[in-house]
Amino acid sequence: MWRVIRPDAHSVWDHPDVKKILSRYKDILENRETARYLIFKKIPANIEIKNEPIDLLWNKHDLIGENINDKRFFEEIKDNDVHIGGNSYLDLKIELLKRIMTSCHLCERKCHVNRLRGEKGYCKIGEFGNIYSVHLHYGEEAPLVPSGTIFFTGCTFSCCFCQNYDISTKPQDGEQINPQKLSALANTLARDERAKNINYVSPLAHTYGIVYSMKMQKMNVAQLWNSNHYCSLDTMKIISDLFDIWLPDFKYGNDECAFKYSNAPNYWSLMTRNHKIIYDASGEIIIRHLVMPGHVECCSKPILEWISKNIPYVLVNIMGQYRPAHLVLRKKPEYDEINRRPTSQEMKAVTNYASDLGILWQAVS
Ligand code: SF4
Repeated sequence: MWRVIRPDAHSVWDHPDVKKILSRYKDILENRETARYLIFKKIPANIEIKNEPIDLLWNKHDLIGENINDKRFFEEIKDNDVHIGGNSYLDLKIELLKRIMTSCHLCERKCHVNRLRGEKGYCKIGEFGNIYSVHLHYGEEAPLVPSGTIFFTGCTFSCCFCQNYDISTKPQDGEQINPQKLSALANTLARDERAKNINYVSPLAHTYGIVYSMKMQKMNVAQLWNSNHYCSLDTMKIISDLFDIWLPDFKYGNDECAFKYSNAPNYWSLMTRNHKIIYDASGEIIIRHLVMPGHVECCSKPILEWISKNIPYVLVNIMGQYRPAHLVLRKKPEYDEINRRPTSQEMKAVTNYASDLGILWQAVS
């Protein structure tokens, strides 16, 4: 994640792959397009959301979602300046997330705790959780900088090599947040700091607060999902048409490695499902693939093969900055095989393989 920005960051838009994949995002940057959350505030839900059973809310949500796929409907709403009186499609999403929080299954751990009543699951994050930092980040992928980064504490994974373990393992650290505060921070980043996007780092357990904050956000700025992407299907249904640009991790090419290093069961089927969903929904995706030492054959190659066959028009950031940290340093025998950096030969093997498959990686790696 902590990349050094290339000095020619602005010319990245000259690259045909970037232009092609991130075209709507670029239009938002240049104010020719509108961020989706602003459009969703103008779509009437036509339902009294607070008192309705959840099945009815989902039915309504899915029905509106289908209409959005109709380009003409989407364009008409987008250009319509009238503010609706009742609940909007965004309100409906917020209410659905609130209901999910009462038996939390935001992520695939599906703890089923009631986070609205203070119960905590695997991530140990309360109703809205905490943030560690808010700043303009110049170290993200070139098309994204300067990125308005909001860094949440806690995580739904337990990566033994986590380089941010002091943040990810201490959800109680940092500053307590709520949707009002979050929206004020996002508005400031976009309006005063000229951030090109609002970049929610480690957002999954905070999805409810983030989407709720969009109700108070005002700026036409791209909303960016920067996540391990271990989302439940219900969460995917809510966010897949809402975020403008995606920055998901795709680390492991099989379930065994994912379980051993991140304690993430069923990783492969869930990751491929979730990547396909966002690809079909908007396709404006930069996948981050962290090359791990000794994992070229079992992880990097299967991931690249799957991408080339199933979601070919995405950008892939092939990342070489893995270094031993956290438990890998403390429990050396157990993780001995990843207690080194990837070699230049391993990095070359991965980038060559990506090139042979026609993966679009050079513009952002
Ligand atoms: S976000 Fe995931 S880990 Fe956290 S309580 Fe909900 S289901 Fe559990």
